[in-house]
Amino acid sequence: MSKIKHLMGISGGKDSAALAIYLYDKYPNLPITYYFCDTGKELDETYQLVKNIELYLGKKIVKLTAEEPEQAGKNPFDFYFDAFRGYLPSTQARWCTAMMKLLPFEEFVDDKPSISYVGIRGDEDREGYISRQSNIQSIFPFRKNIWSVDVINKILDFKNRSAIADFYSGQLNGNLLDRSVNIVLEPTQYDYKNKEATKRNRKERLDRLLNIDVVAFNKVVFNYLKETNYPLANEVDFALLENEDVLVRDDIFRILEESGVGVPDYYQKKEFKVNGLTGEYARSRSGCYFCFFQQKIEWIWLYEQHPDRFKQAMQYENKKEGFTWNQKESLAELINPSRIEQIKLDHIKRAGKEKSAQSDYLLDILDETEGVGCSACFI
Ligand code: SF4
Repeated sequence: MSKIKHLMGISGGKDSAALAIYLYDKYPNLPITYYFCDTGKELDETYQLVKNIELYLGKKIVKLTAEEPEQAGKNPFDFYFDAFRGYLPSTQARWCTAMMKLLPFEEFVDDKPSISYVGIRGDEDREGYISRQSNIQSIFPFRKNIWSVDVINKILDFKNRSAIADFYSGQLNGNLLDRSVNIVLEPTQYDYKNKEATKRNRKERLDRLLNIDVVAFNKVVFNYLKETNYPLANEVDFALLENEDVLVRDDIFRILEESGVGVPDYYQKKEFKVNGLTGEYARSRSGCYFCFFQQKIEWIWLYEQHPDRFKQAMQYENKKEGFTWNQKESLAELINPSRIEQIKLDHIKRAGKEKSAQSDYLLDILDETEGVGCSACFI
């Protein structure tokens, strides 16, 4: 019987949907509560996806909304939009994620020790959101390294080297033990002027340890955590310690298709023609239909594929003079025919250049700007 909460957020995106299915299939005994933070402004496809996952899991996904809009009986986004006096959220003032995703989640968890499963894939090079609350620990089942960066930093910290080496001696022997302990005893190459170099050094040591034996590494981390305040310290065992799977983008689409849950329609590329050329566009992420992280071509996709939603997004811009979803360009300007033509041509050009990149979904490459809270909206 688990003494902690096991939580998994469904963002409406493909990766979290696939993670819900994966965890349900592979770890049926993990008592996971699935939740969805509803902004009230998602595309219909997202709400359909949530229903399909519920059918697959055979249980309800808990819908989380912050208390205030719920008590006022208002749509969460509209409630906060009024409370922020008509100021649209933006990359610099991201009140939407803070109020509609992080706050309801943290209220829901309260102070109970909890594991939050996050669907960052094995082919992505980014860290997920780490809660400000110490009672919430993130686990990344699709990656070879299932642990969050704060945990890894402790494992590789020079001052913990003896304890970690001792834990290793309980897991491995012979040559594998010697090699692992040698890596643990290596001092981190700190470069105070170049934080990236320090990070690279840590990552390179971590990769070497994982390449020796993933399960042994996980057990060492688990034993170390027992002496800390991390939520997993409350558990006698943890099913994911034995997990060696690494899931990449193609696996996600396969899981969604094979399970019958399906890939949300907005990921399906649609053809467009411009000046005798043919291009393709799609939406790359879940989240509010007016999300300011959208690229220009995604706005054009919204205008052409969901004109009613586009119109609603325009109405928000009309509420306060000088506030637009995109910097320096209103949606009314964006849908000027010559501007649409230019955006489509630019997109075709860019898509050609990106063909050799890792993801043929150009839009699947996340901006640096996403940082905090990105996993709440887009995974
Ligand atoms: S999807 Fe975009 S607009 Fe919606 S809450 Fe997230 S960041 Fe804000």
